[in-house]
Amino acid sequence: MASSKRSVEFFQTSEGAKIFQIPLNAFPGFWVYAYLVLIDDYKVLIDTGSNWGTSNQGLEEGFESISESIEEQINLADLSHIFITHGHIDHFGGLAYIRQHSTAQIGVHELDRRILSNYEERLLVAAQRLMEFLRESGVPAEERNQIYDYYMFPKSLFSSVDVDFTYQAVDMQVGPFRFLHTPGHGAGAVVIRLHDILFSGDHILSGISPHQAPERLTLNTGLSHYLESLEKVKTWASDVKLVLGGHKNPLTDLGKRVDEIRALHFHRLEEILQLLETPNTVSEISKNLFGKAEGYNTLLAIEESGAHVEYLYQYGYLSIYNLEELNQESRPAVIKYCRVNDALEMLKTLEKKGEKGYVLI
Ligand SMILES: [Zn+2]
Ligand SMILES: [Zn+2]
Repeated sequence: MASSKRSVEFFQTSEGAKIFQIPLNAFPGFWVYAYLVLIDDYKVLIDTGSNWGTSNQGLEEGFESISESIEEQINLADLSHIFITHGHIDHFGGLAYIRQHSTAQIGVHELDRRILSNYEERLLVAAQRLMEFLRESGVPAEERNQIYDYYMFPKSLFSSVDVDFTYQAVDMQVGPFRFLHTPGHGAGAVVIRLHDILFSGDHILSGISPHQAPERLTLNTGLSHYLESLEKVKTWASDVKLVLGGHKNPLTDLGKRVDEIRALHFHRLEEILQLLETPNTVSEISKNLFGKAEGYNTLLAIEESGAHVEYLYQYGYLSIYNLEELNQESRPAVIKYCRVNDALEMLKTLEKKGEKGYVLI
């Protein structure tokens, strides 16, 4: 297919590290980047693609095209390290393939380690929590089963691999690479800094707001952690010149993009509060926000809505409307939320405080 060809892009840090951005077709119509970074004796791959379809082939082709451009052969076997930005299959799935061709040291954050090393267990436990969340959110049984199938699909793509080191164990630094833990989009999500360039994984992206899921599905995810991590990275990397994400185009103004993403979430929180003048379920809120989603997007929409409702409930903007029913019905019953009296004013005050640089939670 003509549209499937994308080329490797080249970047360079202020101190001469060479960065090659390799586009990989992670899933149908969905692209992710792996980055090959060459500096001194370090030959580092940041993220790996999904292991699905032509993702591994794309990686091999990327290495061939880089070898040509630097006029020196470089293969997977030459890698010294592989850094995983977070435990989502489009970023680490390719490890299953790369491991067969490379003895590179694989690193991940402590909180995502089990996703790589105990993948099957982790998927089943998370799926169980997801089903309970969907039931409580008012998603009908048939739709729940479809979502379950989507959720379990990556099971065929990956079998566990051993991790060689974790980021906290190496004091968040490997040679010139520095790591910052940014929980939210993923529990063990990190951004990686090299000189004046930041690899943002899926924590900060251009054009799209990184997906949020409720923390009840995985500890250390959720909107509250995410918003806090946004502020954290803004300070930690305030002087970077370029941000390279796991998807979409590079960014030059990190602070501006953080503010935009933050504003988007506040807008969504406000929308939900407006809707919840009339009591409703997470499933109905999701339909109101995102319309009728199809396929995998059904899962993304309900998780995104659930993350925002969870945040509002956690911080006292919502109450449960049908408490009586919950008391009588066999659990878990469907929960209906409604906003508390002064919720909209409270949210406005919080947003203003955030603008002045206060911590957001
Ligand atoms: Zn992700
Ligand atoms: Zn991703």
